[in-house]
Amino acid sequence: MDYPAEISNDRAGRLLTIVWQDGVRQQWPHAQLRAHCKCTQCQSQRLLGAKPLRSQETSRVDNLRVIGNYGLQLVFGDRHERGIYPWPYLRALPADAQ
Ligand SMILES: [Zn+2]
Repeated sequence: MDYPAEISNDRAGRLLTIVWQDGVRQQWPHAQLRAHCKCTQCQSQRLLGAKPLRSQETSRVDNLRVIGNYGLQLVFGDRHERGIYPWPYLRALPADAQ
């Protein structure tokens, strides 16, 4: 399994970049990450067919925390921080799919 070698968060550009240990580089717009938030609240909203929230605050990652070997916790501009993104989930998340 792949772990990140480098993680960088561009708040102004609203982009999260991960370079994996095998050299693959992936970049996602913050809005894309929010639209795929893994928390139960967001997942149930999606199951109910709700459109992802799109605002200045929801589409901005203010902070992130690496959760050991497990994944990445993202803190969005509206203080939403329940989503933890496991490494394999991020690795499989295309940057251009909405
Ligand atoms: Zn969420």
